[in-house]
Amino acid sequence: MDSNSKSIFYARVFVIAALGVSAWAMVYKTGVDNTDEAGIVLHLPERVGEWTGVDLLFCPERSCGGQFVSMQLEDPTTCPRCGARLGNMNWAERSMLPADTGMARKYYVRPGQRDPLHATIVLSGDDRSSIHRPQVCMTAAGHEIQNERIIRIPMPTREEPLEVMVMDMTRSVTREDGSPAVYTSYYAYWFVGKDRETASHLARMAYMAYDRIVHGVSHRWAYIALSGGRDPRHEGHLQVIADFASRLHPALLKPE
Ligand SMILES: [Zn+2]
Repeated sequence: MDSNSKSIFYARVFVIAALGVSAWAMVYKTGVDNTDEAGIVLHLPERVGEWTGVDLLFCPERSCGGQFVSMQLEDPTTCPRCGARLGNMNWAERSMLPADTGMARKYYVRPGQRDPLHATIVLSGDDRSSIHRPQVCMTAAGHEIQNERIIRIPMPTREEPLEVMVMDMTRSVTREDGSPAVYTSYYAYWFVGKDRETASHLARMAYMAYDRIVHGVSHRWAYIALSGGRDPRHEGHLQVIADFASRLHPALLKPE
C-alpha cells in the first residue's frame, strides 16, 4: 500500500474500532443498572459567602414566557399573567429536557456587585441524555464563544483544586433605541458523578462508558453551571467564578 491508501486504511480501522466499542457498550447496556446515586445534592444554598440567593420562577407557556422573582409573588405556584403552573424551568428547557430531569437554580447578588450570578444544577434523569455538551446549547442560543479554558480553583476543604471550564461569550443584542450592542458574558461549568468530578465533557463521557462497561452501572450525573455578565477589558470574572465556586462546592457535597 502507498502511504495515502495506508492512512485511509488506518482511518477506517479507527472508525470500525470505535463502532465496535460503542456496539459492545450497547450490548452491555441491557445489563446495566441505572442507579439513583448522584454525587451531589440537588439544592442550592440560600447564602454562598456574601452572596444571597433569589428564586426565579418561569411560566411553562411559550406564548406567555413569564419570569418572576418568587418572593414577589403572592401565590408562587401560579403564573399571575396566564394562570399556568409555575416551575423552575423555562419553556425551552422544559421542552428539551426529559421530564424526570432535576433542576435547581438561583440568582445570586452581593453588595457592591452590579451583575447577578446565575447558578444552575441539572441532574440527569433515567434516560441519561439530559446533559449535553454545553458549547452546543450556547451557540444554538446565539452566543459566540470567544475563549474557553479550564481554570484550577484552590479549595479550602481539600488538597486538589476544583477544575472548572470557563467560556467567555459575546452575543449581539439590540438596545431599546434600536441600536446594536454586544453583550459579554461568561459561562462556567463542571460535572459531578458518584465519586467523580471533571470539567471536561469528553472525560465525563469516558467515565460514563467505563462505569457502564466495567461496573455495569449508570449513575446520575449532575452538571453545575455559573453564568453572568463580564467586563471584556479584563478577566475579573475568573476571580468571581473562583470565589463563588470554592464556597458553593462544599455546600453541594452529600452528607456521608
Ligand atoms: Zn404565564
